[in-house]
Formats: sequence, C-alpha cells, structure tokens
Amino acid sequence: MNICPNCKTDLNGTEIPEENRHLYGDKTHFNRKIGVEVRGMYDGVLFWKCPDCNWAWDRWPKGESRLWALAQTHITRQQNTVILHEEARRFAALTPEGRADLEAFWKGGE
Ligand SMILES: [Zn+2]
Repeated sequence: MNICPNCKTDLNGTEIPEENRHLYGDKTHFNRKIGVEVRGMYDGVLFWKCPDCNWAWDRWPKGESRLWALAQTHITRQQNTVILHEEARRFAALTPEGRADLEAFWKGGE
C-alpha cells in the first residue's frame, strides 16, 4: 500500500517501462511522494510530503534515530499549515448564512 497517511490518495505514479525497472529496484511504478531535503540540516531526504494535500510524515524510524528527531519540528510545522489551510477552505465553502452564523457564534452574539 502506497497511500498518503492524511488524504489517502494513491501515491503510485506512472508505470516504469519494463526494460528500465532494474534501475529502480525492480519497482513497477514511479513514486509520487515528495522527498523533502532541508539544507544545512541533512544531506538527503529528511521527511516525505504528499503531492496532493501537502501533509508531511516521517521517513526515519522513531526512537534513537537522530534524523527522526531532526525532522520533527519540520513535520509538525508542515502538518499545522495543512490543517490551517483545510480549516480556511472549509470556512470559505460555507454558505453566506452559515458563515454569518459562525461569525456570530465566535463573537458570542445571538
Ligand atoms: Zn495527501
């Protein structure tokens, strides 16, 4: 299973031509997940990101791994950004009446 842990989108990309598969560890499809490298921190992929919803998740195993620890602030920041965007999107999708109700509720109005 190669899916995004957040939006569950299929992360399998286009099919790798059979004659080239040996170059990609005999995988049948390219991978759509984005490897994020943080310059000055680690020379390589520090964590993964979804190309569709921008959710970030671990590449390195939790625990003793120094790279796992390094990735955590970046992953948390990215996930919080996605959640904020999602809330803003949901708010914008409300009807004008729904939006007015919600604003009144937040202001403690009637
Ligand atoms: Zn996603």
